[in-house]
Amino acid sequence: MIVLKFGGTSVGNAERVQDAASIIELQPIPRAAVVSAASGVTNLLLAAAADAASGNLAKMSDSVARINDIHNGVLGGITDPAERTLATADVIMLHTALNSALSDVATAQSLSKRDSDRIVSTGEKSMSVMMAATLRSRGTPAVHVFADTVVGTDDRFGAARPDRQRTREQAAQHVLPHLAAGLTVVMTGFIGGAPDGSTTTLGRGGSDYSATLLGAALDAHEVQIWTDVPGVLSADPRQVADARVVPTISYDEAQELAHFGAKVLHPRTIRPAVALDIPVRILSTFAPEEPGTLVIRHATGDHIKAVTAMKGLMLLTIDVPELEDLAAAASAVFGRLHEDHVEIVQVSQASSRRRMTYLIDPGNTGGCGVMSQRILGALEDFEADVSCNENVAVVAAVGDGAAAQPAALGRLLGVLDRASIPVLASSQQSSNVALVVIVPAQHAERAVELIHTAFIGPKPASARGRRQRRARVMSESVRVG
Ligand code: ADP
Ligand code: ASP
Ligand code: MG
Repeated sequence: MIVLKFGGTSVGNAERVQDAASIIELQPIPRAAVVSAASGVTNLLLAAAADAASGNLAKMSDSVARINDIHNGVLGGITDPAERTLATADVIMLHTALNSALSDVATAQSLSKRDSDRIVSTGEKSMSVMMAATLRSRGTPAVHVFADTVVGTDDRFGAARPDRQRTREQAAQHVLPHLAAGLTVVMTGFIGGAPDGSTTTLGRGGSDYSATLLGAALDAHEVQIWTDVPGVLSADPRQVADARVVPTISYDEAQELAHFGAKVLHPRTIRPAVALDIPVRILSTFAPEEPGTLVIRHATGDHIKAVTAMKGLMLLTIDVPELEDLAAAASAVFGRLHEDHVEIVQVSQASSRRRMTYLIDPGNTGGCGVMSQRILGALEDFEADVSCNENVAVVAAVGDGAAAQPAALGRLLGVLDRASIPVLASSQQSSNVALVVIVPAQHAERAVELIHTAFIGPKPASARGRRQRRARVMSESVRVG
């Protein structure tokens, strides 16, 4: 049993959907595909919802029209007329529901997270309908399934947490019978269902997570994440020209990379795979013959494999006058962050032992002003000082073994020091697989480049030659085409 997941770019238009369909068809049955919304559609849906709430109805209609165009383009690529008519009718129904949800929001002049999730699910739902119809049109028996009946979650709209047991039961009920009948199941990524049946979402980029959740629920022997890069690279290729594919990484390494900002995987993707030891492969729909990256429990190599950064974070620092109070004060801060649903990216304690730093995702915290007041309130009993630094970035160099070597952090700090990049905090733990530094956000890109050069180095000449040859061939084919 294989689960294949296709991201937005990989289903961005009619041609890409056909390419994805041929990739699916190459896998043995039983198989399930998880699809994202076509590239751009999720952002347009969120923009339309925000415009509905603020009364900007012309802009809202413009976004809806653009989504319509994208979907009509994909529908136009379904060659079998009966399948095209059927899928078009289903997509029209989804768009009718979208329009009525948007008009509810416009009337209420406010957008709840519940409404937002209902609205944004239109992208994935439409794509699952269109992908299943595309497969059938090509002669492959297939059926679409909306994940709000499969992936059970809590009701934290916008960032719902899955319930694995409920998901397993629902997958047995709504997916297994189709697989047993020899159908390829096409499930929506990104969305789930709250206990009362309302549609939830797993957070931006959550379709990767949907794929491993479905894989775990079905005891899949592999989950494949098909995307627009040929695997997990040693850095974001949009940022570092010398980035190259990492052939194998461990679950721990992949989790650290995703946690510290490597967008190629949603931060929670790997978790469901770990418990059942399911291998996860990251592959490119643009180069399906490339081997990609294999994520497994133990990977070889004890060097730094990849460098990543995450910007737009907030650094909270608390200082307590009495050393003995640190644990109690830290616990009060954790309690408040928990109450406020604030996501903690990293925590460290200064060597003075009177100071703790909390790197947090500002999300809906209201910024440093509001957050400092909230934390001061929680620390009333401690005469603590609280400072807050906005717009910082975390930079992580990931590699099991290497990150635990005592000299590694010193070497990394030396690299940043020579480039006069200020380091606000740093950490290295013996059990950890990442070296982590916090820097002002404006230095993040340069820090990633320098660390990549120092620890990973330039691409081997052979790979460069291949890349240049490929670029030449591609530009020639573009000129010819
Ligand atoms: P999808 O729509 O297929 O889910 P995403 O845009 O979410 O694709 O993720 C793929 C993107 O992640 C790549 O285009 C790349 O720019 C970015 N990325 C960031 N860090 C890395 C990395 N270390 N390796 C590969 N891609 C990365
Ligand atoms: N379509 C959703 C998003 O853009 C989910 C995903 O692509 O993984 O966030
Ligand atoms: Mg993604």
